[in-house]
Amino acid sequence: MNIHEYQGKELLRKYGVAVPDGKVAFTPEEAVKAAETLNSTVKVVKAQIHAGGRGKAGGVKLAKSLDEVRTYAEELLGKTLVTHQTGPEGKEVKRLLIEEGSDIQSEFYIGLVLDRATSRIVMMGSEEGGTEIEEVAANTPEKIFRETVDPVVGLMPYQARRLAFNINIPVNLVNKAVKFMIGLYNVFVENDCSIAEINPLVTTGDGQVMALDAKLNFDDNALYRHKDILELRDLDEEDEKEIEASKYDLSYIALDGNIGCMVNGAGLAMSTMDIIKHYGGDPANFLDVGGGATAEKVTEAFKIILSDKNVQGIFVNIFGGIMKCDVIAEGVIEATKQVGLKLPLVVRLEGTNVEIGKKMLNESGLNIVAAESMADGAEKIVSLVK
Ligand code: ADP
Ligand code: MG
Repeated sequence: MNIHEYQGKELLRKYGVAVPDGKVAFTPEEAVKAAETLNSTVKVVKAQIHAGGRGKAGGVKLAKSLDEVRTYAEELLGKTLVTHQTGPEGKEVKRLLIEEGSDIQSEFYIGLVLDRATSRIVMMGSEEGGTEIEEVAANTPEKIFRETVDPVVGLMPYQARRLAFNINIPVNLVNKAVKFMIGLYNVFVENDCSIAEINPLVTTGDGQVMALDAKLNFDDNALYRHKDILELRDLDEEDEKEIEASKYDLSYIALDGNIGCMVNGAGLAMSTMDIIKHYGGDPANFLDVGGGATAEKVTEAFKIILSDKNVQGIFVNIFGGIMKCDVIAEGVIEATKQVGLKLPLVVRLEGTNVEIGKKMLNESGLNIVAAESMADGAEKIVSLVK
């Protein structure tokens, strides 16, 4: 789960990580009121969407007066901001963060992620702040420094100090940077984050080390023990189809292609997307209906796939292990009847009760193309949607 920058900053503040003073605003009036409470001469009006790259896209404005705050707030609220992370459709701005303008001296990057190779949390740092870390990794990888954290003792002060020196934090501010990094590490661990990225972390003219941006992602599987974090969820920022899918415990991720996929098992779902690509098609979604899906669940999955206007054909690729092929067939038949399917549908079934499943599909009177193998199915659906 993702949260907004202003929510991330509130959490950081609780852990002693320095952030600029600021408030959320939903209207231009609230924006002006918020700006009045800030001490700095320059106030920053920042669009709050679940995507980065706002600065370059015009979503971060420096205002020199309350009038300017109002003007920028009016301009940004309701605007669809297109950044390189939103996709071409962009995201509508519904909230703003009004915060103190900082007297930036240098911008740095600090990020925490779980490194799957070592199964440990890694803190990464770079003096190339303000730039995408992916770009730094591609062009100047030697400018990224890493500290791998031992989970028993946590991030040690010497590691934070080493990282601070490596990324050239001014010597007189290293102690503040260490406090910052340890606070950030505590935020990450205590809240089960999957990503905590501060880009930029800045040093200021008055000798502060602060987070000017905050991107915090949380592990969905741990949210049950963080009710306070769950309250920060903003459904406006999430894909409607994904919200619907989560109600039925389906792992669904919307993509931009036109071939809807219904698959069981995440590995098979990934390889199904690959094989569609291999035959020149584009998957419209990732969908894992899971091991113990019922006919009802399959029906809902079908409806969700079909609610995507881009879908021009569906490929059902099921291996019946725990999940039985006849249950899938029942769900497919029920769903196609309920929604009145007109699109091409290719079904590949294999495994437990496959003969019963195939017989049910054949006798359903529905227009279903049977596939002999995964490759055969992918090839068929790709040619059918073309
Ligand atoms: P994004 O990553 O979405 O572009 P940021 O929050 O990183 O958004 O802001 C982009 C840039 O805007 C920052 O790199 C910084 O230079 C500037 N900026 C952001 N917040 C402030 C602030 N409070 N004071 C001064 N400059 C800021
Ligand atoms: Mg940023």
